[in-house]
Amino acid sequence: MNKVQEIPILIENLVSFAYPELQQSSISISWGKTSSYAQIQWNRSKDNISIKISNDVKIWHEAGIIGLISHELSHPTQKGRVLSEFKTDNDVISRGLGPYLAIERLFAGKYIDHRIINGRDRYLGYRSIRNQLTNLETQQLDTLLSRIQLAPAKPHIPIWQSHDTVIINDEHRSNITIEGHQFLLPNNVHDPDIKLVERNNITLIYADDILVGEYPVKDV
Ligand SMILES: [Zn+2]
Repeated sequence: MNKVQEIPILIENLVSFAYPELQQSSISISWGKTSSYAQIQWNRSKDNISIKISNDVKIWHEAGIIGLISHELSHPTQKGRVLSEFKTDNDVISRGLGPYLAIERLFAGKYIDHRIINGRDRYLGYRSIRNQLTNLETQQLDTLLSRIQLAPAKPHIPIWQSHDTVIINDEHRSNITIEGHQFLLPNNVHDPDIKLVERNNITLIYADDILVGEYPVKDV
């Protein structure tokens, strides 16, 4: 069995060990061309959750993929209407999956925190995740790093690629959150292909080729 075929089993294990509240949800996974590393969507009742992972992630080590999927699974477990990447990352760490999240951030090029929406939210970088780990988790992380032969280092050029996209489907209208920016999707658009286009330091968001919003490319 290859890495991609193993993912559904991996999710099943993650849910039963770390996400008991998602045990009643049906979680589907697919791979494809996406504008961020992962795109997750669910309906308000959370009985259907689907995660689409970018084909680019296929080359990552399995530990990094576990970290990415953990971040995605932590999204629907969060309370409140305002989505916070910071709280989502901390949720992953509190479930004991911090070592995998740290590895994921190395693959995603986030050695230091990635601030979004003018610093009102952030993705944790490798360094601050590591600082929050217990001694045992730090040992686990170091074991993983040596197994993968990955040397943590600050990239010379930071990667500003969007990390993940969240779509919440309501009965009538769905909304999308990307890099902390939330937009309504057009009526009857529920499972769109999302495209991000950068032009004059502005990121334009298209859902099924319909422009739904824009935000500054680098809003730190
Ligand atoms: Zn996220």
